[in-house]
Amino acid sequence: MKDSILVINCGSSSLKFAILSNAGQDTLVEGIADRLGTEESSITFKFEGEKKSIPLEDGSHKSAVAHIKDWLSDHPAIARGLVGIGHRVVHGGETFSQSVLIDHNVLNGIKECAQFAPLHNPAHIKGIEIAFELFPGLPQVAVFDTAFHQTIAPEQYLYPIPMHFYRQHHFRKYGFHGTSYRYISQRLAQLAKGSDQQGVLVAHLGNGASTCAIHKGLSVDTSMGITPLEGLMMGTRSGSIDPSLLSFISQAEGISADAALDILNKKSGLLGVSEISNDCRTLEEAMVSGDQRAKLALDMFAIRTAKHLASMSTTLESIDHLVFTGGIGENSSYLRQVICDHLKALNITIDSTLNETAPRGETTNIRSASSGTNVWIIPTNEELMIALDTISLISH
Ligand code: AMP
Repeated sequence: MKDSILVINCGSSSLKFAILSNAGQDTLVEGIADRLGTEESSITFKFEGEKKSIPLEDGSHKSAVAHIKDWLSDHPAIARGLVGIGHRVVHGGETFSQSVLIDHNVLNGIKECAQFAPLHNPAHIKGIEIAFELFPGLPQVAVFDTAFHQTIAPEQYLYPIPMHFYRQHHFRKYGFHGTSYRYISQRLAQLAKGSDQQGVLVAHLGNGASTCAIHKGLSVDTSMGITPLEGLMMGTRSGSIDPSLLSFISQAEGISADAALDILNKKSGLLGVSEISNDCRTLEEAMVSGDQRAKLALDMFAIRTAKHLASMSTTLESIDHLVFTGGIGENSSYLRQVICDHLKALNITIDSTLNETAPRGETTNIRSASSGTNVWIIPTNEELMIALDTISLISH
């Protein structure tokens, strides 16, 4: 059947890809080109259960996409089914409130939004331009991380700073992980009939982490802000802190504000506190062997996540569902437990046994019998959303 979509997530030093068919249900091939821009770069294809890595001659994004094209030439049956390309784009600003078919104007729009995502959007633009060059004639669609949050009201998205910063510079909360939240909202509506008319809290906890409040299927608040630094403590990001710390850090270290910001983005969070790793699994192993720094970092992560969920609930009429997703949300029973231990005042409690025995990669409801809220673990699927949006836009 001719319904395969090449999904591309093009970053500054990596390019993730997948080809999905059968209305996004089957992943035919997937892979990643990483360390782009260095001499060690390579592209890895995962196909029929086997992984194959090929060094990239010049380490460029273009050679990565060219290898995908070559791979397709060697797999003509898959190549023949390809009907479009879907790109993940981090920042769509206020311009894009839904996915769009990419043309010249859309490319310019993505370029304009690059001021708030200086690392991400230029890489996406590069990926889109290369894909147009190497796959001429294939329609391409942009799917924005920010789009789902464009329903948030001004009272929530404005920062309490002089209004001219918003009027002249569009400084406001945008939020991210929107494609994941949209998927979760739709998946939950299949699992719990009527949830699209209820109040839902979602914790997308991965290396980047955020929370979202969804009321009647629409985002009404989210923890990330003008950039993905705001909100929860994350792998290497501090999340929300007193903004005065920026100035104190730069004075203490004798560095610029940008360099201090870099510390908040890349050296803080789980890594900064534990002084061991940004990786949750590594920290859980260290904690089990008695490392107190790892435990402190994980407990801080949990408490701050609970606080954000509680504050997010102020936008809902009731908290009918809480969903955990993302690498940590889906896999860390320890963090789910500690987070929910701090939400008891909201009458959100989980069954410890259900939590600990939740099968990996599956959807489970782990609420306790007395909990006022359903507590779900739902694996997210952003690639599926990108493929479905692409199919829908190219068939109109
Ligand atoms: P993501 O960014 O969504 O891919 O999530 C990455 C995070 O999920 C990392 O911190 C991983 O350590 C964490 N993670 C993945 N699997 C597990 C696991 N089995 N237990 C605890 N954390 C995990």
